Amino acid sequence: MSSLITAIGLHKQYPTAGEPIVALNDVSFSAERGEITLVLGPSGAGKTTLLNILGGMDSLTKGVLVVDGENVADFSSRKRRLYRKDKIGFVFQFYNLDPNLTALENVELATELSKHRAHNPDEALEGVGLGERKTHFPGQLSGGEQQRVSIARAIAKSPDIILCDEPTGALDYATGKAILKLLQDAARSENKAIVIATHNNALKAMADHLIYIKNGVIVADERNPSPQNIEEIEW
Ligand code: ADP
Ligand code: MG
Repeated sequence: MSSLITAIGLHKQYPTAGEPIVALNDVSFSAERGEITLVLGPSGAGKTTLLNILGGMDSLTKGVLVVDGENVADFSSRKRRLYRKDKIGFVFQFYNLDPNLTALENVELATELSKHRAHNPDEALEGVGLGERKTHFPGQLSGGEQQRVSIARAIAKSPDIILCDEPTGALDYATGKAILKLLQDAARSENKAIVIATHNNALKAMADHLIYIKNGVIVADERNPSPQNIEEIEW
């Protein structure tokens, strides 16, 4: 069976006034459905750049990115937009909710744009424990609650791939754990490919697949022989 995501020789350069910054250098890996792939590395390693490229939000300088049998690097801007809309859910460190929309409206907006519509927005919010907070605006919710809305938004449109950039970075320990549980459940019970970028080594225990990145280069690519349930992990 072929992988959902196959990256071959990804290069990304950002131009500057002087020497260009090489953010990704010959990055190759694959990621599977039903698994949590953890991209680990220090600040500046290239994690966000990699997620933005996987999500069709940024372009490659060189390389091949095959997702579900198609090379995203060849996509026109229109096709890239459809790819982002239908195939990708994104969970950001600082949630990125629309402050002028309620929790429910934020989720509805994403599902209206999507072609799958596998989950009802009300049920998606109930699934993350926010059934009682649907009519609240982001400013009326705690950080952890806002992140749960953003996970409901990502899951509700039922994309094949959910990309998470430091999803627990702004949250306290217990809330971070609750967020990771939701992501682990999405991988296990909905067969999503979850890719989480983090600098927190403690998350290793919950991942199925570990990719270590440093200075834009993959320095190790390992499988976790015994991924643990998030409830069992302490850090
Ligand atoms: P990480 O998420 O692992 O902290 P990033 O992907 O954000 O790393 O950044 C990787 C490198 O690329 C860093 O040196 C960063 O300064 C640089 N970089 C990121 N985005 C841009 C940009 N838009 N323009 C120029 N340089 C950038
Ligand atoms: Mg980053």
